[in-house]
Amino acid sequence: MSPSQATTATVFDVAQIRADFPLLARTVHGKPLVYFDNANTSQKPESVIEAVNAHYRERNANVARAVHQLGEEATTAYEGARDKLAHFIHAPSRNEVILTSGTTQSINLVAYSYALPRLKPGDSILTTVMEHHANIVPWQLVAARSGATVKAAPINERGELILEKFFEMLTPDVKLACVTHVSNVLGTVNPIREIARECRKRGIPLLVDGSQALPHRPVDVQVLGCDFYALTGHKMLAPTGTGALWARRELLDDMPPFFGGGEMIREVRFDGTTFAGIPHKFEAGTPNIAGFVGLGAAIDYYDSVGFEAIHAWEQNLLAYATERLREIPGLRIFGEAKDKEPVISFLIDGAQATDMATLLDLQGIAVRSGHHCAHPLMQFYNVPATLRASLAFYNTREEIDAFVVALLKVRKLLM
Ligand code: PMP
Repeated sequence: MSPSQATTATVFDVAQIRADFPLLARTVHGKPLVYFDNANTSQKPESVIEAVNAHYRERNANVARAVHQLGEEATTAYEGARDKLAHFIHAPSRNEVILTSGTTQSINLVAYSYALPRLKPGDSILTTVMEHHANIVPWQLVAARSGATVKAAPINERGELILEKFFEMLTPDVKLACVTHVSNVLGTVNPIREIARECRKRGIPLLVDGSQALPHRPVDVQVLGCDFYALTGHKMLAPTGTGALWARRELLDDMPPFFGGGEMIREVRFDGTTFAGIPHKFEAGTPNIAGFVGLGAAIDYYDSVGFEAIHAWEQNLLAYATERLREIPGLRIFGEAKDKEPVISFLIDGAQATDMATLLDLQGIAVRSGHHCAHPLMQFYNVPATLRASLAFYNTREEIDAFVVALLKVRKLLM
């Protein structure tokens, strides 16, 4: 069955899903909004917005510092989000889930607390050409301080990691491998289980950037077999400024704190401060409490819809959008991996990405243009920028149709 023949109406009721996302009902420049910038940040369901709202209306207090009722309720709600997250990624223990402001902070935590103390001249960190800057620059910073180097494994024209090359590059000087689960530009899904198996054989820990995976597929860190998994909340229906790092307990126990301050200590003395155990050792200061309450509600929302239905719907949308985009003369898609999430980067001959995004916006269509924080990937394809349409389970075929009509119009204007 071709994607255009497939009937998706049986999978789930997208109209009902859309009704849960208030922002999707708005117009932009007088046109119905078509939000195709989900890889940048997702929209939020009413239940998440309401959870944050209710927190501030009914329970606002600081966590872990008060014995009063509000403080206890706030702490329970905040720690409840950790439980939900641990369950969501199937972490062996809730204490292995460090709550952070997002993937960027999670990766920096590993860079400064795990990698920096271990790296010495001659060592290296292996990453890939398809990484977001958040999974490149922190490694460059700690490499510069320690005399280590950062190596990048190549990809092929379809935007897939060349696995044999990656494995060949896992030489004894490599002290950490860092790979994205799903590319934010290409949608490529990397075979993390296989990569983790090869890393483990060589005794090299593996960090996975899960930012773009969790919005689309169930993740089980134990099945994946990685050592660190970084994630960000705002791409998965939760408020901005929420995220986490999961890591194996042995690694976390061995890592010194990254930020110092309140709540991460056991006892502070001028002759020697001792630290709390995990996870609190890594959570200095007042966290984004309401944000994490929202993250808990986001996970509940995913649970209520189910990833089986989400995946089926999104894969159908991806196939349909790809087929429709290929109808446009001069359109080139970047990223044609066999295993792909619904992210489509493309260019149209003779048109600048930013001009197109600006004109699409005037028609109510939100896509991203630019380098997508992936300069090395742009260098690989030898383009300064691409347009990126990134879909979510609340998008529809009708929106894709509207997008194609708008693209044809814009193309004409720019030719
Ligand atoms: N990695 C990937 C693959 C991403 O797409 C992003 C966000 N664009 C990040 C890391 C950084 O996430 P955050 O800004 O939420 O820390």
